[in-house]
Amino acid sequence: MSEFDDLKIQGHKIVDWLFNYFTTVEKLSVMSHLNPGEVRDRIPKLPPQKGEQFETIFEDFEKYIIPGITHWQSPGFNAFFPANNSVPSVLGEFLTAGMGVQGMKWITSPAATELEQVVTDWLKNILSLPEYFEGVIMDTASVSTLCAIVAARERISEYKINESGFERLRLRVYCSSEAHSSIEKAVRIAGIGSRNLVKIPVDDNYRMDTDYLENAIKNDLNVGYIPTCIISALGTTGTGAVDDIERIGQFASRYQIWHHVDAAFAGSALILPEVRENIKGIELADSFVFNPHKWLFTNFDCSVFYVRDKELLTNAFSLVPPYLQTDQKSDDLDYSNWGIQLGRRFRSLKLWFVIRYYGVEGLRKKLHNHISYAQKFEQIIIASNKFELLTPRNFNIVCFRFNPGKDLSFNKINELNKLLVQNINNSGKIFLSHTILSGNFAIRYVCGQTYIEEKHIDIAWETISNEAEKLI
Ligand SMILES: *Cc1c(COP(=O)(O)O)cnc(C)c1O
Repeated sequence: MSEFDDLKIQGHKIVDWLFNYFTTVEKLSVMSHLNPGEVRDRIPKLPPQKGEQFETIFEDFEKYIIPGITHWQSPGFNAFFPANNSVPSVLGEFLTAGMGVQGMKWITSPAATELEQVVTDWLKNILSLPEYFEGVIMDTASVSTLCAIVAARERISEYKINESGFERLRLRVYCSSEAHSSIEKAVRIAGIGSRNLVKIPVDDNYRMDTDYLENAIKNDLNVGYIPTCIISALGTTGTGAVDDIERIGQFASRYQIWHHVDAAFAGSALILPEVRENIKGIELADSFVFNPHKWLFTNFDCSVFYVRDKELLTNAFSLVPPYLQTDQKSDDLDYSNWGIQLGRRFRSLKLWFVIRYYGVEGLRKKLHNHISYAQKFEQIIIASNKFELLTPRNFNIVCFRFNPGKDLSFNKINELNKLLVQNINNSGKIFLSHTILSGNFAIRYVCGQTYIEEKHIDIAWETISNEAEKLI
């Protein structure tokens, strides 16, 4: 029997296994209950000297790996943000792995480059982004944002920092205090330094205070800093708050600052016409990122990054050594000049499968359902006399807490909610995460799993209220 026969025989078994997984994942405990080190301790310290039968390997996968899996594709996974997949995405990824394409240059697989152009154009159309945006697929929003900051840095320094380092340039980057930690990481990696990231306070709805932003820019200019990049959030990670993209864009263009929009999670919702008012002013943005790997049914990783002027990106990142030059016109098309990595995965295939399989209408319907289920959950919280909303729902994110109303102290309520989340997660029925809002411990409920149905909202509420009952 040849190895290729194993592909056929074992491959079919794996497809059957996945069929079973997809259809029964909701019955598994969402969170893994293992302790640190448990998976590692069960696996031999040394690799096998001789090859093993696939059956043996697979048995161990079920025995040792599955217990250590937190089931992101369970409809009870309501923590953080989803990283959802879907049947067409998994099938596309399977083919990608099978062909093992590395798409660093056009010539290394023309279809990989050109399909990436096609799907990023399609998504631009579906999300109503400006026609002149040009897209590239990155691994994560963290990397997309880093690329935006480096491009902004190079634009403002006229490419001098790439050549000779910072010398005495003191660059500044702005975002709200609710912005994602990946921004601070990017500012550090880009050599600008955390101290030069100005975190602008937020208003009562956790949106950037834009008056404060303008003052911060003016003050910085007065003392000789160089305002370089403003990052606005379309859907913060804590509460899904949306910054005033239009007003921020106006400041950015007035002061010639790069404006990057971080829509990592909520950007997908722009396929809904009713959500589009949130990107008023997007035509003033220099770049925009959103993750189909979060809320557009495309398995991790897949982050789509758009820039208004692609040359600003390629000028900052292109560095082609002689052994990669091909004297071809196609060198222009090489996506490896748009970012950090040389080697690139063929991510557009799964995305193409997903968009075609569901169609724009199918995608809209799913997102619309997720938002309306979250709305239902929000109404349940509002109607309950033992729970309260901590901020109005944005998209499919509900931030709430348990407050049985016995004049409990601030600390007591926080402790109670911390314990409640722990107990809920230990129950295995659903998995929730939390954030801190104005000092309050807030439980986050996010409803975005691909195959979630309305009944799962009832299951979630039942679990939450039962566990809360036990605490009184
Ligand atoms: C999730 C998230 C990120 C980070 O996304 P990665 O793709 O994991 O790097 C950045 N910004 C926001 C607003 C997010 O929600």
